[in-house]
Amino acid sequence: MNRVEVRNLEVTYGNRTVLALDRVVFERGGFYGIVGPSGAGKSTLLRVINLLEKPVSGQLHLFGEEVDLSTLSYAKGMPLQRQMGFVAQKPSMFQASVYDNVALGLRYRKRNRVQIQALVQEALDLVELSHLSDQRAHTLSGGEAQRVALARTLVCEPSLLLLDEPTASLDPYNISIFERVIQTIHRQKHTTILMITHNLPQARRLAQTCLFVNNGRIVERADTEAFFHHP
Ligand code: ADP
Ligand code: ADP
Repeated sequence: MNRVEVRNLEVTYGNRTVLALDRVVFERGGFYGIVGPSGAGKSTLLRVINLLEKPVSGQLHLFGEEVDLSTLSYAKGMPLQRQMGFVAQKPSMFQASVYDNVALGLRYRKRNRVQIQALVQEALDLVELSHLSDQRAHTLSGGEAQRVALARTLVCEPSLLLLDEPTASLDPYNISIFERVIQTIHRQKHTTILMITHNLPQARRLAQTCLFVNNGRIVERADTEAFFHHP
């Protein structure tokens, strides 16, 4: 995957501008922490990149393609969206087994049965939930469900992983597994990761670069070490 670049972006709700960015670049293979107060525009930024918003204006450079966001068609967006993974704060499981929840994206992608079995197994091993493969997904604990949501995303091997406060409602045990998995994926697959978090120590532990968003603007951006260095 190439860099992700957003230019001349303006997102409005009603007549209020909630995000206005001249230019922001996320380098290939980087791990970015996105922090800032509630309502700053962080989720909106990830939704723009995930092609879930239709902004007033904006260009997105994604997977080597130029996308005009204000005129983007479903047909053009869909194949790009398939290369991205998205995990939000609250996992929503389908009323099916854990196995089937994780297999879903692979079935859409027309992978064969043998491939699907191997990939689902590998993804569930990674999040340490192989033993719950046959359990109904909606009977999982919140932390387990979030790990299944991560497995369901990773099984499709996204080259860009978008995380919107993914551990905000997890206990420390589940947080540590979740963090270990995304670090492993980042290291082994060179997946580009954009993670919104309110947990500053977490941003410091995981991210290479941090961005501070406030009032629809990126007001600070620095290498993580410099970002957290307060003289
Ligand atoms: P953050 O993720 O930083 O908390 P958001 O991107 O969710 O911020 O929201 C930015 C601003 O846009 C907030 O003021 C929020 O209330 C507003 N907003 C978000 N989604 C909608 C929507 N669907 N309709 C109207 N306003 C919205
Ligand atoms: P399909 O019938 O769509 O090709 P599979 O043959 O992979 O899918 O699996 C058939 C069903 O068997 C799945 O829907 C799933 O519920 C179950 N299944 C297959 N492998 C496993 C596994 N390792 N653990 C739990 N359930 C499995």
